[in-house]
Amino acid sequence: MSVSGEPRPATVVVGASRGIGRAIAKVAAGDRGPVVIIARSLDGLTAAASDVRDAGGEPYMLQLDLLSLDTSAQLEDFLTSNRLLCDVLVNSAGYGLRGAAAALPSGSQLGMIDVNIRALSDLTLRFLPGMVNRRRGGVINLSSIASFSPGPNMAVYYASKSFVRSFSEALHEELRHTGVIVTCVAPGPVDTEFLARSGAGRAALFKILPRLTSDFVAKRAWRGFKAGRRLVIPGASAKLAALTASVLPSAILLPLIHRLQHRSSDPCRCGSGLRFSECCGKGGMRSSHTHRG
Ligand code: NAP
Repeated sequence: MSVSGEPRPATVVVGASRGIGRAIAKVAAGDRGPVVIIARSLDGLTAAASDVRDAGGEPYMLQLDLLSLDTSAQLEDFLTSNRLLCDVLVNSAGYGLRGAAAALPSGSQLGMIDVNIRALSDLTLRFLPGMVNRRRGGVINLSSIASFSPGPNMAVYYASKSFVRSFSEALHEELRHTGVIVTCVAPGPVDTEFLARSGAGRAALFKILPRLTSDFVAKRAWRGFKAGRRLVIPGASAKLAALTASVLPSAILLPLIHRLQHRSSDPCRCGSGLRFSECCGKGGMRSSHTHRG
């Protein structure tokens, strides 16, 4: 606690119980201040708190479900009661779902919008005005190379990540010369539970691209933020993938991504009832049915 009793600046990492968020909390702890770590899993938070302590930081754990509508108010209350303020906000919580939008449960798909978009925006908009008043700090938002294209067979996830990049890059520009930085981080595949939980790890697209470690991504994200960068795409292969997606015409890109996000044992996307490998994956549509994709 400072002598004056003024609130102390903290780094707040949302989605810190595992994966990229946990790795960023560890890197941030190297600056030796308070690090507030947030997620639902108490076990995950306890392990992350130990990382933060080992790295020289002072961990504060907050168990929160971002699906609840008052997340940012709960966080603000927590910070106030611990005499902390949000100096740097890291929005790393998020999830994805692979599958056809018409087949996946709509509730889980809408949940992705709530966590990946609504909660991230709510937290950013709540803490940004204080940062601007203090003329310091900023926000790191986790997007993805998925933000560079629509994503057939992962439609809501890709769209949510496009929102995150668009929102973050616009804020970065608005906040020029205010002393506040907003950095968007757009990784390719990272070796975390995300890939198995979302089903993305089984798709060809995520097998072609090399997987980075969460520690590598965290270091690049933190360094990019400290350097005032608008966009950080960690790794050469992710940069190439983002560039390719940006220049390819949609008529080529969409069927390509659709195909790469199927695995051969999936039911064929054309609705034939056959496996993808026995149907359109054989090198084209079977003549007996019409493709709906
Ligand atoms: P991860 O290992 O699955 O971790 C996700 C984190 O989000 C966990 O801490 C999880 O904590 C938290 N979370 C999820 N739903 C939550 C909820 N309702 N309330 C509170 N916390 C919640 O995923 P990751 O790979 O670290 O991904 C981090 C970010 O990077 C995500 O936004 C993801 O879209 C993005 N990204 C990942 C990859 C990749 O290949 N891994 C690539 C590009 C972008 P609890 O479950 O404990 O709540």
